[in-house]
Amino acid sequence: MAGHPKKKHSHAVQGKRRSHLALKAVALTPCPQCGTLKRPHEACARCGTYRGRRIITIKTKRAAPGPA
Ligand SMILES: [Zn+2]
Repeated sequence: MAGHPKKKHSHAVQGKRRSHLALKAVALTPCPQCGTLKRPHEACARCGTYRGRRIITIKTKRAAPGPA
């Protein structure tokens, strides 16, 4: 038998525990190449660059802006 709680947690204790569970808004920074908001430390989803270099090719119908 595993350990079992001796007392029922009150609704106040339940609320205190859940006070840390809220989701935060996603952090966004402008891409230095195209200005699109992107998540930091990730390649830009619009122009495919990271730290000034194109590292991924964006497959879209529209031509991706930025350095060739
Ligand atoms: Zn970009």
